[in-house]
Amino acid sequence: MENLEHIPVSLDLGKIKRRLHMERTGDLSQLQTLVEAAQPLIAARAVYKVCYIEEKLEDAILIDGIRLKSRVLRKNLEDVERVFPYVITIGNKLEEKARSYNDLLKQYYLDTIGNIALVTARGFLEDRLRSRYALAGMSSMSPGSLKDWPIEDQRLMFSILGDVEASIGVRLNQSLLMIPGKSLSGIYFPTEIPFYTCQLCPRERCPSRKASYDATLAREYGILE
Ligand code: SF4
Repeated sequence: MENLEHIPVSLDLGKIKRRLHMERTGDLSQLQTLVEAAQPLIAARAVYKVCYIEEKLEDAILIDGIRLKSRVLRKNLEDVERVFPYVITIGNKLEEKARSYNDLLKQYYLDTIGNIALVTARGFLEDRLRSRYALAGMSSMSPGSLKDWPIEDQRLMFSILGDVEASIGVRLNQSLLMIPGKSLSGIYFPTEIPFYTCQLCPRERCPSRKASYDATLAREYGILE
């Protein structure tokens, strides 16, 4: 297992304003104060592992002797031999700070800032993997993001990686949610054509959608009758 400590995350006020739809309105000085307070509370760390696929089954793959069952993951790895399971976090200090406020708007701003910081940190991990392993394109999938790959496989992902809690302080609670909450897990894999789980997810009005839903693609992946 490889550890990445001190992942640089520099909060971009302009980006945060856009995400909060505050380009023209809203209390910008309050937001700026919150961004300044948030910056030192972000401690981004990650673990990842280089794994070789041992076996490809009809609707599952085997890595490190562990079976991950997902028709979509299996199809995405048709021509892939090497994958990179990971967990990344920005720690719990920002969440603690948000909880210390009674003001729901401030809590919401800090939550959004945390999400942006986490995705920025994951971008650093992605760039690191791309340069270190000479990969052109990469995509990622996470257990629980589609019905096809249930959240229960979080446990398996963590066991593939080893002692994630000792390494970067992330654990799973009884509902299989990661603690600290501002953490992400998944498997990176090389791709020529970018894949987004959102392409197969019909959820309407999702603020985090990265690609349009594609029913034809969902049918090709065998998850839509
Ligand atoms: S549309 Fe939203 S819920 Fe669905 S996979 Fe994308 S980000 Fe997740």
